[in-house]
Amino acid sequence: MQKLDVSLAERSYPIYIDRGLLGQDLIRGHVRGNQVMVVTNETIAPLYLDAVTRGLGDLQCDTLILPDGEQHKTLATLERIFDALMAHRHSRTTTLVALGGGVIGDMVGFAAACYQRGVDFIQVPTTLLAQVDSSVGGKTAVNHPRGKNMIGAFHQPRAVVIDTAVLDTLPEREFAAGMAEVIKYGLIRDPEFFQWLLDNQAALAARDTAPVAEAILRSCRNKAEVVAADETEQGNRALLNLGHTFGHAMETFTGYRDWLHGEAVSAGMVMAARMSLELGWLKQADLDRVSDSLAAWKLPVTAPEGMARADFSELMALDKKVQNGRLRLVLLNQIGDALVTGEYDPNALTRTLEAFC
Ligand code: NAD
Ligand code: ZN
Repeated sequence: MQKLDVSLAERSYPIYIDRGLLGQDLIRGHVRGNQVMVVTNETIAPLYLDAVTRGLGDLQCDTLILPDGEQHKTLATLERIFDALMAHRHSRTTTLVALGGGVIGDMVGFAAACYQRGVDFIQVPTTLLAQVDSSVGGKTAVNHPRGKNMIGAFHQPRAVVIDTAVLDTLPEREFAAGMAEVIKYGLIRDPEFFQWLLDNQAALAARDTAPVAEAILRSCRNKAEVVAADETEQGNRALLNLGHTFGHAMETFTGYRDWLHGEAVSAGMVMAARMSLELGWLKQADLDRVSDSLAAWKLPVTAPEGMARADFSELMALDKKVQNGRLRLVLLNQIGDALVTGEYDPNALTRTLEAFC
């Protein structure tokens, strides 16, 4: 088993990575009180809920099965979690367990941040995207009809338990979407990892156990380092948003339905790379490498059908990275070296949108 620590100012928490962890007592070991509520969705429950609750038998263990889908990452669904906690009389010492992908993780994390002004929670991520990204770092949120992740909080989990065996049931398209976030770490700060991902593309696509675990470990290590240096995104944590400002606009445009988050991030990273080229920072050959690395996973590298420049301008203006009316973007100096800046020639953004719309 691999173990990493996310070291924060107030406390650290572990990330465990291995095949078969759900059958062990790791989750139980991080529950401090005598109540726990495992929250999952209707797709994951028949696959993995029993394996998780089996190890929690000595506690008051309640379960809540939510509908599946990003369209349910809403305040209305959050209320169902609070209703269940109240109905089963969960106190301030309860622990929520988020068993699922990023949607469940973000929502259960936010519920844990709010319930009785904050209770413990444990992340048990079941998608590649959640294992390498959303389960680590403490960002929690739900969507608002006018914008993604607009209502949320920072709330760190007690532990992250990554069982790589759960990826066996993950559909190919979801696996590829997770790879977009994996590739992101290479692009923003780890050029060797970017190259390693290219070299191991075939083994990763075949989901060989060792390289998949290695990719998860290296991704989590990158994320943990960034988060440890900037827990609440005052500075460099924003680098993790490479491709996300363009991507969120595309997700909002497609109604959170047609495109997966990782797919939108993929196209968004290509747009950010293109803009970096327009600014004279990134070389054409590197833009091609970025695009090819994503296309190899059949991820989108262009904007969705029918999305116009005006749609981008309008939706990107809503981004949380707008400060004093200025849109800050994550751009690339080169592969493995990103920066977040509002200081750029706005014509480069215009030319980028023209190239994609
Ligand atoms: P998701 O949670 O919707 O899961 C994708 C699909 O896979 C769902 O249908 C789910 O039921 C299914 N699934 C999950 N695990 C499975 C398994 N092991 N086998 C079979 N099917 C399985 O999507 P996601 O890509 O995991 O997460 C996307 C969300 O994460 C977005 O809402 C995004 O905003 C959020 N996110 C948050 C952060 C953060 O830092 N908090 C970072 C990145 C993304
Ligand atoms: Zn993301």
